Amino acid sequence: MAYKCPKCGGVASRAHSPTAQQAAGLVGALIYMAFAGLSCVKCGKLQRSEFSDEDRGTMVRNSVLLFVGGLVLLAACVGLLIAIND
Ligand SMILES: [Zn+2]
Repeated sequence: MAYKCPKCGGVASRAHSPTAQQAAGLVGALIYMAFAGLSCVKCGKLQRSEFSDEDRGTMVRNSVLLFVGGLVLLAACVGLLIAIND
């Protein structure tokens, strides 16, 4: 899930948080990534408004996918725990 940096044309990707992953596991990391901003290796943090309309549309779609993916995973974990407890 990489985007083109509007400033240098390099690769911009979603900010990844090892802290969120440690605290809340994969589900937390997915949900964090759904709301996290983007950053470029060279230019640092980027505003969503700096990207083209097309890229922003893709970002919104991907955010929804990440968020839904996180919730599905959470539901699967809860279901598993309930199944184990039975
Ligand atoms: Zn850049």
